[in-house]
Amino acid sequence: MIFDVLTLFPGMIDSPLQESILGRAIRQGLLEVRAHNLRDWAEGKHLTTDDSPYGGGDGMVMKPEPVARAIAALRDRSPGAKVLLMTPQGRPFRQRDAVELAREPGLVFICGRYEGFDERIRQTLVDDEFSIGDFVLTGGELPAMVMIDAISRHLPGVLGAEGSAESDSFSDGLLEYPQYTRPAVFNGMPVPEVLLSGDHGRIARWRREQQLLRTLQRRPDLLEQVSLSAEDLAILEKLKQQPEPEE
Ligand code: SAM
Repeated sequence: MIFDVLTLFPGMIDSPLQESILGRAIRQGLLEVRAHNLRDWAEGKHLTTDDSPYGGGDGMVMKPEPVARAIAALRDRSPGAKVLLMTPQGRPFRQRDAVELAREPGLVFICGRYEGFDERIRQTLVDDEFSIGDFVLTGGELPAMVMIDAISRHLPGVLGAEGSAESDSFSDGLLEYPQYTRPAVFNGMPVPEVLLSGDHGRIARWRREQQLLRTLQRRPDLLEQVSLSAEDLAILEKLKQQPEPEE
């Protein structure tokens, strides 16, 4: 998968992606991240990419022409790639979007700065618009990197142990169950007995119950969007009747 990132600050993109799992995947050729400087498509003596807003007001707006030229060039270089605009006004980026976008032949991320983009960029030149949360950052580079990280985990071979993304939070619509490792007792807190039992059926049932409990306690909104089996629903009913669910 090739990720193209259009930005005024290409230096922000490279180094965080050189470490750990993504760094290894890049070295193995499983993905490539190419940062492009928007100024390369700017014109005039000062290579201007922003201007003051029509109608007045604070801040600067990113001019449409350099962005349009850059998008046209990147579409030519990466035929079939989807062009994604980073904006707090976009649709919220979710795990299911990460899974779907990982199937695309390529992705182009358009990172804004200042007060954002001239509206005409959004209207005609991009395929989708994403927000990484209900807060405003100074630029689209971190959102693009967040999305690249989340999407890359679903590319074949990127995670060492294939399939480990499947049990992650949100993959089946619920939060993940609690995880434990050695030692068996830490600060007086023992690992739940079932995890030491070697009984895989019991462990799977315990983990499912913990997923439901954790989601009920922390993100009950998720339970309204997921389709649950009759067994899950029965467990949930039981959990809801417990006055103070155990952590
Ligand atoms: N004036 C814009 C508004 O109120 O919608 C915000 C502009 S923001 C300061 C500058 C750039 O940062 C945006 O164009 C976008 O690329 C990026 N950005 C900021 N917050 C974001 C978020 N939550 N998700 C995605 N991109 C974001």
